[in-house]
Formats: sequence, C-alpha cells, structure tokens
Amino acid sequence: MRLVFATNNPHKLHEIRSMLDNRFELLSLHDIGCSEEVPENGATLESNASEKAHYIFNKYWVNCFADDTGLEIEALNREPGVYSARYAGEQKNPADNIKRVIEKLQDKTNRNARFRCVISLVIDGRETQFEGIVNGKILTECRGSDGFGYDSVFLPDGYSQTFAEMPLDEKNKISHRGRAVQKFILFLTNQNV
Ligand code: IMP
Repeated sequence: MRLVFATNNPHKLHEIRSMLDNRFELLSLHDIGCSEEVPENGATLESNASEKAHYIFNKYWVNCFADDTGLEIEALNREPGVYSARYAGEQKNPADNIKRVIEKLQDKTNRNARFRCVISLVIDGRETQFEGIVNGKILTECRGSDGFGYDSVFLPDGYSQTFAEMPLDEKNKISHRGRAVQKFILFLTNQNV
C-alpha cells in the first residue's frame, strides 16, 4: 500500500520507514512534489495532526498520515506541549528549546515528563487517530548525539539510555511515535489493507 507521510522532518521519516515492512511504500512530501509549508494552526496535537493529514489528502488525493508530538512536563503544567517545536521562539531551534526546558526545571525536583504523539491516518477520505505515549524524566544536561528534538534530555522510565543514546530500533519499540505507529499498522492489518 502506498502511503504519504505528511512531514518534512528527515528524522521522523527515517524512524517510520524503519518500522514499516514491505507491504507499505512510504512517500515523503518531497516525493509527491509538495514543497509548501503544511498548515498546523491547531491548539491541540489532535487538531494539528488532523489538519495536516486532511490538507495533504484534499490537495493531492493520496492516502496519507500526519503526526503531531508534544513533550509534556509535569512540573510545567504540561508545557511545552503543542508548542514543543517553537518553545524558545519561531526559529524552532532544538538546542534553544532544550536550554529553555532545563532552565525552567532548574529548581524543580519533579522531573517527570512524557512524549505524546497523535497520528491522523486518512484513507479514502476517512480519518482515524492513534495515540502513543512514553513516560520518562528530563535530565539536567544532554546525553547522546543521535535522534532529534528533545531526545538527548529525555530518559525513558526503566531505561538507562536517553533516546539520543539508544539504537533507533530500541527507541521505536518504546517511543510515543513507535507506539502510535504500531497501533496504526495493527489497524491496517485488521482491515486487510
Ligand atoms: P512535531 O510538531 O510533531 O514536529 O513535534 C514538535 C517538536 O517536538 C519537534 O520539533 C521536536 O522538537 C519535538 N519532538 C517530536 N518528536 C520527537 C522525538 O521523537 N524526540 C524528541 N523530540 C521530538
């Protein structure tokens, strides 16, 4: 089955490609000639994922999915949440975002956080959403050089490596996006797609 992943993020594409078997032909936005910024104006992960997936389906008439992810930190009232990409400003700089998180948590003993990912899958115009969550802690400094975004300060519960230290197949087994993708693969398998 041919599926477009509505993202321009090469890390996310690589992650999801490595999870899908050869039943799926995964295309990027680049592959379908979409170079414009896909709108995401929602106030929730659910509405953003939905907006992105519908935008691509309605414009290109292709079966597709989009994800939206937020880092939700307990001591910061679930910030940065839907603002995770631009937490330190519109330049969307991961290092600046991490710096802001570490600074805001400086005096906090509660370091609990979770990544929450929502995937909207649109097949023949019908949307289904899948959620994936991973709980963990925010470290006081970065560890590891793989991954992207907040990976180097996120230590998943029960593990001694951050997402940026872990091999990708390990991250995919337990991560927010990995869990949401596992659900959508099961959904498509049950539909005999
Ligand atoms: P997006 O809106 O789904 O692209 O995600 C918002 C922001 O969350 C990204 O810019 C990253 O900073 C962060 N993020 C999303 N997924 C991950 C992940 O798997 N690891 C670390 N950070 C992530």
